[in-house]
Amino acid sequence: MSIKESLQKIKNSIPKNVTLVAVSKTKPVADLQEAYSAGQRVFGENKIQEMVEKFDVLPKDIKWHMIGHLQSNKVKYMAHFVDLIHGVDKFSTLKEINKQAKKHDRIIHCLLQAKIAKEETKFGLSFEDIETILASEKLRELKNIKIVGFMGMATFTNNQEQLKKEFSSLNHFFEAQKLKTETENCQLNILSMGMSGDYLLAIENGSTMVRVGSFIFGSRNYN
Ligand SMILES: *Cc1c(COP(=O)(O)O)cnc(C)c1O
Repeated sequence: MSIKESLQKIKNSIPKNVTLVAVSKTKPVADLQEAYSAGQRVFGENKIQEMVEKFDVLPKDIKWHMIGHLQSNKVKYMAHFVDLIHGVDKFSTLKEINKQAKKHDRIIHCLLQAKIAKEETKFGLSFEDIETILASEKLRELKNIKIVGFMGMATFTNNQEQLKKEFSSLNHFFEAQKLKTETENCQLNILSMGMSGDYLLAIENGSTMVRVGSFIFGSRNYN
């Protein structure tokens, strides 16, 4: 299947209110151009340097999502254009994003990454840590960020029951926090879950944003 056909296939299978992030990490600019020509406008990258290089040469109406683990000292390189940062798992990172956003007179939207997988290797905050951050007074002072939802990565497994359990636990937590939390810089309406292998299951379990890479662009040699 071509990039265009894969995109069409996904779009036909997901509800209109679900956002498709085309994960283009490691892929050449020509592949992104092909997806752009097919109408795709939201792209996800996991390395800041690579995202900056692609941003510089591609059309400016693309929305760039940073989906990778963040190094605070690199936030400054994307602060002028990033549309949404998915993988925030520390309060100190929020502070840095706020600082850099302020320099550009922007409000940067962020998702807090929740740890739902069993694997030790996956980053993320516990539900308890997320509640602490959302309730903290110090968060109110960060006027140049806005927390707009949560992101989760499920365990790398084919076990559908396990995946369903992980997705639905984050969905329940998300729904509960949504009712409790509504302040100037925190309005929860995005739940980012689901990748090439499990995006339909994620949507069935409440996902409003899926991050799909290999299904669109083919397999990667690394990352
Ligand atoms: C690479 C990546 C994806 C996409 O994975 P595929 O299996 O290729 O769809 C989604 N989310 C994150 C955080 C990633 O790093």
